[in-house]
Amino acid sequence: MTPTGATSVPMAALTDVGRRREHNEDSLLAELPLLAVADGVGGSAKGEVASQRALEALGAIAGEVATAPSSQEAVRAMERAVLAANDAVHEAQARDPQLRGMATTVTAAVLRDGGEVIVGHVGDSRLYVISAAGARLATEDHSVVAELVRSGRIAPEDAAHHPQRNVITRAVGQDADISVDAFVLHVGPGDWLLACSDGLTEHVSDVELARAVLKSPHDPAAAVRRLVDQANERGGTDNITVLVAQPVPSDVSGELRIEQLEAAATTAQLRVPVASGAQADESGPLRAVETSGEIPVQLLTPQEEIDRRATLDARPYRAGDEAVRSTRVRRALLAVLVAVVAAGAGAFVWSQSYFLTERGDGRVGIDRGFPLLGLSARHRTSDVDVEELSRSDRDRLVRSHRLLGEADAERVLDDLAERSSSEERNGIATSS
Ligand code: MG
Repeated sequence: MTPTGATSVPMAALTDVGRRREHNEDSLLAELPLLAVADGVGGSAKGEVASQRALEALGAIAGEVATAPSSQEAVRAMERAVLAANDAVHEAQARDPQLRGMATTVTAAVLRDGGEVIVGHVGDSRLYVISAAGARLATEDHSVVAELVRSGRIAPEDAAHHPQRNVITRAVGQDADISVDAFVLHVGPGDWLLACSDGLTEHVSDVELARAVLKSPHDPAAAVRRLVDQANERGGTDNITVLVAQPVPSDVSGELRIEQLEAAATTAQLRVPVASGAQADESGPLRAVETSGEIPVQLLTPQEEIDRRATLDARPYRAGDEAVRSTRVRRALLAVLVAVVAAGAGAFVWSQSYFLTERGDGRVGIDRGFPLLGLSARHRTSDVDVEELSRSDRDRLVRSHRLLGEADAERVLDDLAERSSSEERNGIATSS
């Protein structure tokens, strides 16, 4: 129950038994450069033994992942580390009949320089990357329900209530040999990694995860506490484990990130604040930003109001309608005021938001604005070829349209340019 203290990387972790279980079968490990979560299964104390043994074995050789000379070798080392965890759990139950049937999920991340993260994953615990664009799931659930969704047999919205949602299809320790997901992930400045067991995501949505983390940029322990409390308030049906860390610092304030997150969510859901008419040369800076609202507000003069009523319901205007009319005018004025304020806030966030994208010429550049409805303008071009990026970079940095501050966007693009030219020289194909 004690949050792990921060080291050179801001981070915090918490595990909690929840409200319904007697044992906490989850385990966590937060010893840089390794961050790992394991959710044991098997009932009574067996799940606990499985998750602990797995993380001990993983931790013992995680150093090899950190020191591997290339990304590709680091990925192989991570796969070996998870397989070693599998051996440890599987052999323990072969030796002790009391432990038969135990297994565990493992979701592990090893932080390397330059925002490179090596992920090893088996089961339905999760790793997210949280930025101002929201929480993006980096791992794939190895569960019956996730497979039903992937094959199109059930809708994603039905997954959360499916009776088999807790049944996993892959687990560490189950068999002598298992298949491990191991891959490279790149995180940008200010991005947070969040690893958790399903006891958290059972009760807390992706948007809530992002909100909790971005709201406490200087106090990750408060963020993990809030998330565990939220899951418990909503039933705490399972053990809850959550771990957050920010591998690369950012000079963009946490306050701006949460504003961007809320603006992106609002713009996507309501299409309310719009900054339209932004005109810019492909290469040049923005000339002007005009704002307008999409809220359908009609402000009528008293005579127009009378005419409108006469047309709509063919009812003659009466003196008693005066009060109704003035209330309507007040409401309309208030709506206009709300629209103007919302549009102003939208325009401000618009002017502070940058994202990486490809505009049909195959080259990655930086756009300024929102990645929606054409509300962005080219800010910077580059020679980085989108086809030469690794799949994870493409998905993470170019297609996700995550919003960044200007300096961060510039840094990420410079980093991509640097990496794509060095990979060209070395012939390294980054696994993803
Ligand atoms: Mg669980």
